[in-house]
Amino acid sequence: MKITIDNKEIIVLEGETILEAARRNGIEIPSMCYAEGKRHRAGCMVCTVKERKSGRMLTSCSTKPTEGMEIDTSSEEVIRQRTMALELLLSDHRADCEAPCTMVCTHKLDVEQMLAAYDAGDYAQAQAIIRRDFGDKIACDDCKAPCEKACRRGTVDKAVAIRDIIREVAAMKVEMVEPAASIAKLGKEIFFSRVGIFNQKEKDYLRQTTTTPSRCLHCACEGREACRLRRYSTDYGIKRSRYGLSSKLPVKLRIDVSERLGFEPAKCIRCGLCVYNTENGFTFLRRGFDMQVIIPEQNMANAYDELAEICPTGALFIKK
Ligand code: SF4
Ligand code: SF4
Ligand code: SF4
Repeated sequence: MKITIDNKEIIVLEGETILEAARRNGIEIPSMCYAEGKRHRAGCMVCTVKERKSGRMLTSCSTKPTEGMEIDTSSEEVIRQRTMALELLLSDHRADCEAPCTMVCTHKLDVEQMLAAYDAGDYAQAQAIIRRDFGDKIACDDCKAPCEKACRRGTVDKAVAIRDIIREVAAMKVEMVEPAASIAKLGKEIFFSRVGIFNQKEKDYLRQTTTTPSRCLHCACEGREACRLRRYSTDYGIKRSRYGLSSKLPVKLRIDVSERLGFEPAKCIRCGLCVYNTENGFTFLRRGFDMQVIIPEQNMANAYDELAEICPTGALFIKK
C-alpha cells in the first residue's frame, strides 16, 4: 500500500501504523504513550497528524493507513494540536526537572549532586564534585549564596545550609577520587518543569519524611536525561504550562519498587505503558480526572528495570 507523508511517497508494510511507517522512513513523529514493540493505547494525542483529503486529525500511533492517504506531520495546525496536548500533560505534572540550587549557583556547582553524595555518606565523591566545579578555591567565601535563597526546603521550613556543608566536605581528609559522570549541564533554552508552591499538607509531609543528613529534598529529576516530555516541550518551545498546575498527586513521594527501580507518582502522565506491559504489576486506580497509576506492594516483584526505559517521563527511573 502507498501513502504520502509530507508529500513523500511511502510504502506501508503489513500491519504498520502511520507512526511506524513514518519512523521507518526517517520521518520523526513525537509520541508519549507509544513505545516500540510494547503494548500501548493511544491517549496522549502528542502523535497527532492530519489526513489532508478528509481533513481529519488522527492519532498516528494507533491508525492503520488506507491506500492513497496524504498525511501531514508538520503544518502549523498539527504543531498547534501537539503543543496543546503537551501543555495538558504538563498541567498535571508537578515536578522539578532541575534542582533550583544548582540552576542558580554562580560558579556552576552541581549542588544537588554534591548533596546526594553527602547524604549517601560518600564524602570522597562529594569532595570530588566540589573540586571539579570550584577548582582549588571554595567559591562560597565571596558569594551571597543564591543557592540557599532558591532552596525549595526553605519554603518548607529552613533552607539547607549549603555553604556550611560545602565547607565541611572540603575540609575532610578523604581519598581523592574522580567525580562520577555528571548529568549534562543544560542551557537556558531547555524546558524546565517547576513544582510550584507546596501546600500546607505537603510541607508537613516533607518535614516529617525528609530525614537525610543535609535535609535536602533532592529536587532534581532522576529521569530528566531520557525524559521525552521534557525533550518535546523543548522542541515545541513550551516555556510553562498555559493551564497552570493542578495535580492532586503527592509531591516528591518516591517509592522503591525494587532495589534499582524507583517510582515518583507525581511525574506520571498516566500513559499506561507500565500497566499494559506488566502482568499483575502496575495498575490504574479510579477513573476520569482522579485516575492514578499505582503498584500494590504485593505486585512489586513483577516490575522490571526496563520499565524505566519505556516510561516517557522520569516517573519510573533507575536509582543512582
Ligand atoms: S532542597 Fe536540596 S536540591 Fe532542593 S533546592 Fe534545596 S539544596 Fe537544592
Ligand atoms: S519527568 Fe521530565 S518533565 Fe518531569 S521533571 Fe522529570 S525531566 Fe522534567
Ligand atoms: S509510570 Fe507508567 S503510566 Fe506513568 S508515565 Fe510512566 S509508564 Fe506511563
